[in-house]
Amino acid sequence: MSDRFYLPTPPTDGHAVIDGPEAHHLLHVMRAQPGDEVTLFDGQGAEYTASVEKCGRSEVLLAVGKRTEVDRELGVRITVGVALPKGDRQKWLVEKLTELGASRLVPLSTERSVADLKGKSLEKLRRGVIEASKQCGRNTLLQIDEPQPLAGFIASATGTKWIAHPSGEPLGAQSVSDQVSLLVGPEGGFTDEEVAAAIEQGWQCVGLGPSILRIETAALALVTVVASKVPTD
Ligand code: SAM
Repeated sequence: MSDRFYLPTPPTDGHAVIDGPEAHHLLHVMRAQPGDEVTLFDGQGAEYTASVEKCGRSEVLLAVGKRTEVDRELGVRITVGVALPKGDRQKWLVEKLTELGASRLVPLSTERSVADLKGKSLEKLRRGVIEASKQCGRNTLLQIDEPQPLAGFIASATGTKWIAHPSGEPLGAQSVSDQVSLLVGPEGGFTDEEVAAAIEQGWQCVGLGPSILRIETAALALVTVVASKVPTD
């Protein structure tokens, strides 16, 4: 796979200008020269072949080929609602969710949440999605929503709905629909009332074995289980 760069706006007349962190990567990490071939992806399912035409101090002009849809998605839309852990663990979780193919991450506030996503933190996490997509080859960006309260997420989810809880039903032969919503609690766990509210609204309470897993481990294990249930043809 050639080096990949994110191009959020479509090219004009076969040309595009890249600036910001993408230009920094191209100019100062890859040491791009005119004539170098790269791949651009638009975050909405497509990529372009492109070649560097001109390198500026902080921007790069590229000649861009035609837009090609290249689908590297799972075939199931997975939404993950998580009471986020703190600090760098958020970044790691986002990177791994992107690699594994989750479609949407919803940071949740719950009774026992500890982390709060403010201002630039959300932007940094979204930037992390781009970085991970460059590396893993996904052309569709993992969407990260603004934080929302657990109650709203529970009520609005559709498709297969699993809430992870240490006392939940072991995961086994359950099948999944093409839309799956997953719920993972904070370090202190969901309260009994939160679990009951989810079950009342059609969520299935699922367990991931006898160990108490960290938030990231539980979220990634769930996504992996869902991905393993998607038929490949
Ligand atoms: N003492 C807390 C409890 O009993 O829920 C532990 C919380 S755990 C660190 C964080 C979240 O990961 C939990 O709320 C749950 O969603 C998920 N989780 C951790 N271990 C799990 C397991 N064995 N089965 C299912 N979910 C688990």
